[in-house]
Amino acid sequence: MATASAVVVGGGLAGLAAAVGLAGQGVRVTVLESRGRLGGRAGSFTDPTTGQMVDACQHVSMGCCTNLAHFLRTAGVDHLLAPQPKLYFVTPDRRTSVFKADPWPAPFHLGRALMGAHYLTPLDKLRVGYGLVRMLAEHPDADPPLLPWLKAHRQNARTIERFWAIVLTSALNETVDRVGLKYARKVFRDGFVRHRDGFTVHVPTVPLGRLYGDELRAWLSAHNVEVRENAGVKRLAMGEKGLRGVELRDGSTLSADWYVLAVPFDRVIDVLPEELVAREPYFANVKNLTASPITSVHLWFDRPVMKLPHAVLIDCLGQWVFDRGEVAPGEFYLQVVVSAARDLKGLGRDEIQRRIVDELARVFPPVGLAKLLRAKVVTEHTATFSAVPGIDQWRPVQASPVANLAVAGDWTATGWPATMEGAVRSGYLAAEAILARAGRPAKLVQPELGA
Ligand SMILES: Cc1cc2nc3c(=O)[nH]c(=O)nc-3n(C[C@H](O)[C@H](O)[C@H](O)COP(=O)(O)OP(=O)(O)OC[C@H]3O[C@@H](n4cnc5c(N)ncnc54)[C@H](O)[C@@H]3O)c2cc1C
Repeated sequence: MATASAVVVGGGLAGLAAAVGLAGQGVRVTVLESRGRLGGRAGSFTDPTTGQMVDACQHVSMGCCTNLAHFLRTAGVDHLLAPQPKLYFVTPDRRTSVFKADPWPAPFHLGRALMGAHYLTPLDKLRVGYGLVRMLAEHPDADPPLLPWLKAHRQNARTIERFWAIVLTSALNETVDRVGLKYARKVFRDGFVRHRDGFTVHVPTVPLGRLYGDELRAWLSAHNVEVRENAGVKRLAMGEKGLRGVELRDGSTLSADWYVLAVPFDRVIDVLPEELVAREPYFANVKNLTASPITSVHLWFDRPVMKLPHAVLIDCLGQWVFDRGEVAPGEFYLQVVVSAARDLKGLGRDEIQRRIVDELARVFPPVGLAKLLRAKVVTEHTATFSAVPGIDQWRPVQASPVANLAVAGDWTATGWPATMEGAVRSGYLAAEAILARAGRPAKLVQPELGA
């Protein structure tokens, strides 16, 4: 096994985690990435007007994301995220509720924070408490449509909009009328109930291109992983007993003992041999996944406009706003995220920007006094798969029916929604599947917080 080789197609977090997992067990790995950078959707671009590295969209992690944390620790970059011990919830009337844990054991650590939410009435809070208890009592695999479930469990329009939707739309990148119960329950159980550190939001202090940049590359190169960027794969080639190689877009080919296909779900079918997709529902099922968009609005002002490091916006178009501080002399950078951004379709970038800036000016008056130096609106139309009820029936396990091929990606069967944690977990699971088939089983997936 020490001389075994693997080709990983896709240099997003799933592919990189598979590479880290396999390399740690002595496998010689080549990562083929079609773009000129690593990190996939969790990546940055260079702004042509300023040369600054800008995230396509702000990414955050949570305390319950144990595999991502392990991956970052392994690569030596975990110090590039800052935990946020407090979350700030702000309404258009500028009132703010601070959400922080008390020094009590879970699940009581957040009780007082919930009771202090100014945007819910005392009766609403009782409704929410009742809904949470009933949700946690559901079977972990039960996945009926969430909205009827919420209504059947005493939730009213206010608790749905101002509590359930506020948490779930960002966590699942989908609206409450489209998601199933299973992943909603997982968000509340893992994030808020199971362990007192689960809810802590971790925000990168550097652009994602730096987080998944030089240190990670140095780790990979020190562990016999060759990373080839601008190396798009055209097709996987079948042999008699499994894959015999990959054909690159430049016409070259590459073969190895093992393969990990770690591309987004909407790219999988393109690179697989047609006869394989026709023969194996395992692959054809991926066509049933659908996508949900995210829009991020990047704003550079001539002065500081927020006193908070971030805010969760209630009853607003923007859902989260992050203050990224002074990124260049005299340039103060905010990013606003709109998850499940279907309603913005057709509005045009200028209109989206105008609505977001107007809204921010109402919530944070200094915005109205500041000069907007630059702005950028980025919509990722296929940001993540949509966690509709019953979605897991279409998500394949990592060990594929092809003997020497594993698949990875946030869309594979991880038990997690589409997140960096899900992607890393899938990469570790894919590496485990290969190691098991190679007769050298290893445990790479990390225990859940509180397990
Ligand atoms: C706007 C946005 C905001 C998000 N916010 C958060 C957040 O706050 N927190 C969070 O946890 N998650 C967030 N996510 C989700 C997170 O980014 C993804 O779940 C995760 O990065 C997916 O990783 P992946 O490796 O599965 O896929 P990807 O990152 O898509 O990686 C796949 C890689 O394969 C490459 N590729 C594709 N085709 C080929 C080919 N033919 N040959 C070679 N390479 C190929 C792609 O270029 C890409 O680099 C967000 C996603 C988006 C889009």
